[in-house]
Amino acid sequence: MERLINFSRDRHMLCGSCGQRFLVDLDWIDRWQQEQEKCPGCALTCEHEDAPRVTVDPADPALDDDHVARLSWYHTSTHPDWPTKDFDPAADLIAETRQMMGGDQRVAAWAARQRRKALHVGTYEAAMHNMLRRDRDQADHGSQFYLYRVILKPPVVVRADWVIDPSDFVGDVILDNVCPSGINVARYLNYHEDPGGLSLALGRDAIAGVQRVTVPLDDTWDESWVHDAVAALENTTTHIAPTIGKLSRFRRPSSPRVLSGRELGASLARRLPVNLQHQFASAATFVEGDDPVWWARRTSGLLDLIEHPERVLAALDESELHYL
Ligand SMILES: [Zn+2]
Repeated sequence: MERLINFSRDRHMLCGSCGQRFLVDLDWIDRWQQEQEKCPGCALTCEHEDAPRVTVDPADPALDDDHVARLSWYHTSTHPDWPTKDFDPAADLIAETRQMMGGDQRVAAWAARQRRKALHVGTYEAAMHNMLRRDRDQADHGSQFYLYRVILKPPVVVRADWVIDPSDFVGDVILDNVCPSGINVARYLNYHEDPGGLSLALGRDAIAGVQRVTVPLDDTWDESWVHDAVAALENTTTHIAPTIGKLSRFRRPSSPRVLSGRELGASLARRLPVNLQHQFASAATFVEGDDPVWWARRTSGLLDLIEHPERVLAALDESELHYL
């Protein structure tokens, strides 16, 4: 069962100080974060600890326990086989790293903790927010991403109500902490991805199966935008003019081609809701050495995931369901 996908929908806010609930659009939240808006009830601005924050939409279909099991849930990953079976987080550690972590016993304890981490699934919008956020990180920049549609295994026992985003500072949740024995999934209010949406923390055994597509899809770029972008990039030089002065020792200047690529990415970003523009521009950053055709197709394809999710859903419908 699919939900209506809408990256621009209004958000519900709840003030921790005066208890006022109110509905705002994404531009309001953007101004709020810049201290240009106040709580309509008590006039607190965003820097206060009890200031309003996004909260769950009372009409969210995921609030209904029976819906949770039947809804489609999404996850993006750079792993082609998520959620990995018999996941060994220590498998890739070299001897030197093991030593630095305090030896084999410490590594085993760390690996056991890693295996107790919950999996996360959320709305389509949350999966896209997550991918753009990760694509900004140098380590994942330009990586192949996969979008998973997750089908839960009935009967699903849902933890009552919902919890505040339980992630620690690195985004990890220990499964037992949110899903006590007998509970399969816990709903949580996501602050970072699709803010105000409900995501789920769950274990691998709560998943019946997944469908997977590589994203961006292969043939969804806008051919005319790609054509113009490639022409613009190829008309600029990769040559970096020598600079005089001390600054150049510390900060390598960008070539005209890189600057042109960044402007092209930023121009697409401006078509998106305000809370995605910065993430999109960063994820689409053109870096020295990028192939203009590859970059333009990928960037246009990324935009299409947000502007035309129906194409991705159709591709998922065509893909095989892998039972875990
Ligand atoms: Zn207030």
